[in-house]
Parts: sequence; structure tokens; C-alpha cells
Amino acid sequence: MVRGDLLCPGEECMAQILDGKAVARKVLADVKAGVAAVKDRSGATPTLAVVLVGDFPSSKIYIANKKKAAAEVGIASRDFLYAEGLSQPELLGLLRQLNADPAIHGILLQLPLPSGCDEGEAIAAIAPEKDVDGFHPMNLGLLLAGTPTVVPCTPAGVMEILDHYGVELKGAEAVVVGRSRIVGKPLAQLLLARHATVTMCHTRTRDLAAHTLRAELLCVAAGRPQVITGAMVREGAVVVDVGINRLESGRLVGDVEFESAAKRARAITPVPGGVGPMTVAMLMKNTLQAARRQLGL
Ligand code: NAD
Repeated sequence: MVRGDLLCPGEECMAQILDGKAVARKVLADVKAGVAAVKDRSGATPTLAVVLVGDFPSSKIYIANKKKAAAEVGIASRDFLYAEGLSQPELLGLLRQLNADPAIHGILLQLPLPSGCDEGEAIAAIAPEKDVDGFHPMNLGLLLAGTPTVVPCTPAGVMEILDHYGVELKGAEAVVVGRSRIVGKPLAQLLLARHATVTMCHTRTRDLAAHTLRAELLCVAAGRPQVITGAMVREGAVVVDVGINRLESGRLVGDVEFESAAKRARAITPVPGGVGPMTVAMLMKNTLQAARRQLGL
């Protein structure tokens, strides 16, 4: 099912590591070449507006990572940071102004928004062609319709990893744990479009393990540290762990208990270094594609 040799360091066969950092480097190198070509052909620099409302320490870290990646690939970023907050009408006004600015090709509205702001209304106020996160209802609808245009970055990154390692999806028994708008739901659609047989699990699922144990491909985005243990993984499965959780000890872990799952899986993404780096890389890819479309290239 997976290209490449399995790593068997000890007595017990450990799974192949699906190296998201390496795949992200490859995506970013392609984006860098694409950005240079856009600049050559149009004279314009693909530009991302970064909007942060409120004072969220983790959002600041995410934004710093995204801006660093943008700089590396030659995408310009312009900051619209409002640590003290914005009213909903002010935020909508800002988004309208960015929609109308031809020098801005992508709008990154960092979530969450502070209480008092309506996330759904704000996302819907972004012009769909500048929605580089792919969260606009129109872009999610196009994905559902089978004509994806802008795909949310994290599920797009998962697909990129699976394709890079040659994971066969057609007819595969795929189980997605989590049904959020930004990860689980779009990921299930992408897998369906590639002819996997998809089961979605969530908090109301009865007997989660009964489902996960059937999965040849198990994708977990539950936001619960190590909720999937090795005993819940089918022998020889490919496991993609989207979760990022910081334990009280300070250790970063996924939604899958890596050590026990790696003993049963054929291949697995680590945390950190798995899906995380892909999300940022796919945001850059989406920004490049948005710029190309707006510049008619
Ligand atoms: P969310 O909280 O919006 O959704 C979690 C989903 O998991 C819900 O649908 C819920 O029903 C389901 N769920 C929760 N506990 C469950 C359980 N015990 N059994 C079955 N289903 C359960 O979370 P999200 O935004 O989709 O994020 C999920 C995880 O992915 C989080 O850890 C988040 O930090 C991480 N994340 C990582 C990246 C990345 O770049 N790697 C990007 C986005 C999110």
C-alpha cells in the first residue's frame, strides 16, 4: 500500500514515518518557483493579507510561521493586526477593503476570533477568490460538488502526504475521526473523490474502536490528546495524525498514541513533523494559485 521500505529498527517492526517536513519542503520549493514565474510574467508579487483580531498567543505563533514561509517562497505579506480587537462591522469593513484591493491576492483571517465577532459571517465576507484557507461556504460547496477550487490547507496537506508516499486510496477502507469544518469534513470529501470508502466518526459515534479497527487508512483530527491507542489501530494501517496538543509537561503530542500505534501501523505521521508543516505549505500553494487566477495566468 505504501511505497518505500518499512523501517524495522528493533524486534518489533516499526512503521514507516510519513515525513511531513520533507514533503512540505518539496511543496514550498515548487511554490517558490511558481512565485518567481508569476513575478516574471506579470511584474506582480503574490501578496497575502494577514488579519489577526484579538490577543491570542498561539495565533501569533501560527502567524509568525506563516509569514516566515511566505518570505521564504517570495510571497509578500501585509499585516492587519488588531490586538485590542475590532467590532464586527469594523472587521467586515476591513475585509471588504481587502477584497477590493487588487494588490492583495489572498486573505488569511486567523481564527479564532474574539467573542463578540461572528466567525461564520466574517469568513463569508471574504471574496471566495481570495479565501486562501478554503473555508468560504462557496469553496466548501465547490468541494462537495466535486469541483474543488480552493481546498482547506490541512486536509489538502494530508492528501499531499498520502500521494507523496503512494498510498493507494481507490477502494481503501478509510476512517476519519473528527467532523470539523476545517479538517474532518473536507478531508472525508477529498478521500471520497479519490474513491476511498469513507466512514466519519465523531463524539457521538458508538464504539469508536470498532470503526478504527477496520481502517486501512485512519485519519485522526479529534483534538483529544492520544485518544487513539495502538489497540484501536488495524495491523498494517496507514495512520495520519492531524492533532496537535500540548500536555501539561510541555510535550507536544498528537491525537494518536504514537508509540503503540507505530507498532501496528504500516506507516504513520509523527507529531510534530507530520501534518503540521504541510498546513503552512499548502497555504502558500493556495496563495500562489489565487494570485495566478486573479492575474489571469
Ligand atoms: P474540532 O475541535 O473543531 O473538531 C474535533 C472533532 O473531533 C469534532 O468533530 C468531534 O466530534 C470529534 N471528536 C472529539 N473527540 C472525539 C472522540 N473522543 N471520539 C470521536 N470523535 C471525537 O478540532 P479541529 O479544528 O478539527 O482540529 C482537530 C485537531 O487537529 C486538533 O488537535 C487541532 O489542534 C489539530 N489541527 C492541526 C492542524 C495542523 O496544521 N496539523 C490544523 C488544524 C487542526
